[in-house]
Amino acid sequence: MTDEPSNGTALPASLALVPDGSLQEVADAAVAGLRAGHPAADLIVGLSLQAPHTLRPHLERLWDLAPNSPTYSACWPWRGADDNEIDRLAARLHAAPAESDRAWRCLLETRMARGWSIAVAAIGGVVPAGDYADACLNLVGIERRAGGIRRLVTEPTCHIEFPQGFLVPPGRGGGRGAMPDPSWYPGSGVAGAGRFGGEVDARCAVCGGPLHRLLAFDQAPANVPGGLQVVTCLSCLGWSQQVLYFAHHGTSVRPAGPALTRQRPEFPAEALPETPVRIRPSSPRWRRQDWAYSNGEENLHRVGGEPTWIQSAEFPACPACHRTMRFLLQLDSLEIEGGPWWLWGSGGILYSFWCDGCSLSATLWQCT
Ligand SMILES: [Zn+2]
Ligand SMILES: [Zn+2]
Repeated sequence: MTDEPSNGTALPASLALVPDGSLQEVADAAVAGLRAGHPAADLIVGLSLQAPHTLRPHLERLWDLAPNSPTYSACWPWRGADDNEIDRLAARLHAAPAESDRAWRCLLETRMARGWSIAVAAIGGVVPAGDYADACLNLVGIERRAGGIRRLVTEPTCHIEFPQGFLVPPGRGGGRGAMPDPSWYPGSGVAGAGRFGGEVDARCAVCGGPLHRLLAFDQAPANVPGGLQVVTCLSCLGWSQQVLYFAHHGTSVRPAGPALTRQRPEFPAEALPETPVRIRPSSPRWRRQDWAYSNGEENLHRVGGEPTWIQSAEFPACPACHRTMRFLLQLDSLEIEGGPWWLWGSGGILYSFWCDGCSLSATLWQCT
């Protein structure tokens, strides 16, 4: 056991169970462990997600240690950056070409207006303008517009709470075991309420079957239009069509977007079982989640905040006004008690988007 951390470093999977008051101690131990050559890189990912502020005192050290480099989480510790760290990153951005891309991505990760301004001003200079730069901006939930930065995500960040017994409890097949991840218990606050599942009184433009309700907001959080019913066609989405668009007027909904050719679905689907749900404000620990890190254990059914992408960020353009649509909600794969397992392809996530100006929604899913 000589290569095990000897400094009390928790295993990454149990970080979720560490109380808030002990997270700084875990962060200090994780960085000390890294310096001593212990395998604590996963813990840095977990802390970057759940408590980035605990890494703030260690950012200079983490720059040198570069844990998780060259993976997509390498720059996540800079989510905990402060103004002084932004100054350091700004200097690094222009100091050495070999460091400029990393400093630029760290500036984006700060999610601070000043960090973003410096990063966006560097596009076309030390960072080439183009698809790469735009994709990196989208990953932190923004896009470049003439005259500034436009946010593609809105607050509050909430979790969807299904009634006990509706979903098969996570971890039944192993994983973190008998205790479900704390993200399934977002707390007692209520941001909204709605109905999941069932059919709506409108038909799919592709297969002609009834559209399927994903979530009807009877009580909407501040960043969701009142009365909105988020729908899709479970038979056609992701198979016949990558993205389906819908026009909304109050609680009514109909297909929208480009004219679609009628097609018989390859995998005809029934509506998902109906259930009431609550929309709970997310606790700070679960405002940002990562699909791979969640390992099938966390509650990834979310409304508002930042999407949990499985692939690259994919914000569709509104088919009416062509502006990028904002993220509205996501539904993880669903293992419903008594069936069905609804997997969005294979262990995928469904994402829904909204154009405020046109009252249009879009749905698409990603999987591995
Ligand atoms: Zn259809
Ligand atoms: Zn629009």
